Order: sequence, then structure tokens, then C-alpha cells
Amino acid sequence: MTPFAQAIITWYDAYGRKNLPWQQNKTAYSVWLSEIMLQQTQVATVIPYYQRFLERFPTVIELANAEQDEVLHLWTGLGYYARARNLHKAAKIVANEYHGEFPTDIEQLNALPGIGRSTAAAILSSVYKQPHAILDGNVKRTLARSFAVDGWPGQKKVENQLWEYAQQHTPKNDTDKYNQAMMDMGAMVCTRSRPKCGLCPVENLCAAKAQGNPLDYPGKKPKKDKPIKQTWFVMLHYNGQVWLEQRPPAGIWGGLYCFPENSTADIDEQLASRHINTNSIKRTQQLIAFRHTFSHYHLDITPILLDLSNQPDAVMEASKGLWYNLSQPKEVGLAAPVKQLLESLPFELQ
Ligand code: SF4
Repeated sequence: MTPFAQAIITWYDAYGRKNLPWQQNKTAYSVWLSEIMLQQTQVATVIPYYQRFLERFPTVIELANAEQDEVLHLWTGLGYYARARNLHKAAKIVANEYHGEFPTDIEQLNALPGIGRSTAAAILSSVYKQPHAILDGNVKRTLARSFAVDGWPGQKKVENQLWEYAQQHTPKNDTDKYNQAMMDMGAMVCTRSRPKCGLCPVENLCAAKAQGNPLDYPGKKPKKDKPIKQTWFVMLHYNGQVWLEQRPPAGIWGGLYCFPENSTADIDEQLASRHINTNSIKRTQQLIAFRHTFSHYHLDITPILLDLSNQPDAVMEASKGLWYNLSQPKEVGLAAPVKQLLESLPFELQ
């Protein structure tokens, strides 16, 4: 075992996290679920989602048999919804092609939707103690600093270099412990903006610490200004209900429910296509615009609230949607800005 790995494991025995919900009664299913939820999301946020998911879907079979709407509903608020859609797809494959047992071969596991090389390695090392190296965001940061790896890890060349260090230092024995320790190190000690070098088990081995510039690692993504797009939400309201439509499976908010969208403030066509007679509009109110930021662009959203005097049945036929009852909401997956707007609606409707 390398001195680096030894120091990491000794630190883990004393200070690492051992009581997280997914560290108890581990199965490939529970570890997989936690690994997917933890991508780009912090432990404290994930815990209640993880518990609700396991309670509702105790096995991969139950998850595979669920409606996608319910899966997305339970995911509402966690963000990055492609994760939830892939989770559901992967569950179906495990249920149908692997008789409900996750494959224990890294290539087969890696081939499932949403499971990358590092996630597959994390599952197999954690549950079956297979000696695979991991390289998630926390590990990338700790390794980039410890070995002064220049460049942005989003570049293949830099990522490959980090994989080499990861493999070189991942021990054949105690791989599960070492991998967990590396994740904990990144989350607790070698943190993004304030690394606690004085408490770090590899302080004496760390190249960035010796150079005096840990914050220069890992290298930043080359800056590009995000474009700004605009959209208008058409919020049809009738008697404590609002009209929501399900988005197509691909693209932003795929499969989630959302207000009808319009690319300009002129929403007449949207109303006409849903057979809404202007005489049935009691009040039109433009709500405060707000910004929702995606990884590639900003979306400025202006909600337009229309109070209707009767429920236009034709709307139901025009598209796949539902009248969402604000006091008894149906359990469907909601796009984040829709959820935000729905929470503020009772106030707007006063
Ligand atoms: S010494 Fe500091 S920069 Fe280096 S690995 Fe430890 S916490 Fe990170």
C-alpha cells in the first residue's frame, strides 16, 4: 500500500463517516441509489430523498415497476432529472435482463444508463470489496491538489492523469474503506474553497500544500458567458386548479409537468390552440419574472397568470396535461421553477 493510501485509511478509521444511511445493510441497489443521488448533490440534501425512495421502493423490482411520474415526483427538488430517468431505465434493465440482481462485472454495470466508470467502481468496491479505483468530484480535487495536476479535469488528458493517480494509490485490500475515505476527505477536509490542510492526513505528502497554492487545483473550466434565453409561462387558473402539461421525454425538464410555454409575451396563439375564449378570462396578471439557471444557459421566465371563469374542457383534449389541484396536489414530477411558482401561488391568488 502506498504511504498516501495508508495515511488516508488511518485517518478514515479515526474520523471518517460510518453512519450514513446507505452505509448500513449495504446492497448493490441501496449503494447505487445513494451514488446516483449524491452526484452533484450534498449528503444532507440527499438523506431524506434516499430514505423516501427506499421506503417506497425497497427493491429494484419495485422501482422498475413504478410509473415514471411517481419516480420523478419523488425526485422533485433534487435536480438533474436525467439522473431520475436513467435510474428508472437502469432499474428496468436490472429487473428484466438480470433477474433483479445488479451485475457484478464492472463493464456490465458501467453499461447501465446513468452509471459511469466511477459509480460502477464505487458500487462494486463498497458492496463486494472489488479493488476498483473511483474518481468522483471530491476525489478529483484531492488528487489534483496532492499531486499538483494542472488543468481542468473536464479535459480528457487531465482526467486520464487523475485516473492514473487514482489507480496507483487505490489499494488491493481495504479498497472499500479507501474509496469511502477519499470521498470523505474531499467532503470534509480537502474542501473546494477552504481546505483544512492543518487537519489533513496527507499534508506532508501534498504537492499543492508544499507549493502554497491548493486553491489553484483543480484547474478551472475555461470561462464562457452563458447565453440568456427568455420564456413566458402561461398559467391557466380555474377554481383552485392550474393547468400543467407533461413535457416530452427528451430535452429540458423531460417527462416533468410544466406550465404551457410561449416564446414571447403575446400568448394569444397559446390560448387559441387550447380553445380558450377570451371572454372566459376574468383577469390577466403578469407576475414577477425570475431567472432559472441551467448548466449551459440562463432562462428568464415571466409568468402570466390568467383567472378563468370556467374550466375549458377542450384544453384537456389538446395536450397531455392535468388540472393540478392546489390544495390537493397530485403526485407528479414538477420542473423546479414550476414548483417554486406553485408554492407562491396561494399568495398571488388572494
Ligand atoms: S494538504 Fe490541503 S490541499 Fe493537500 S490534500 Fe490535504 S487538505 Fe487538500
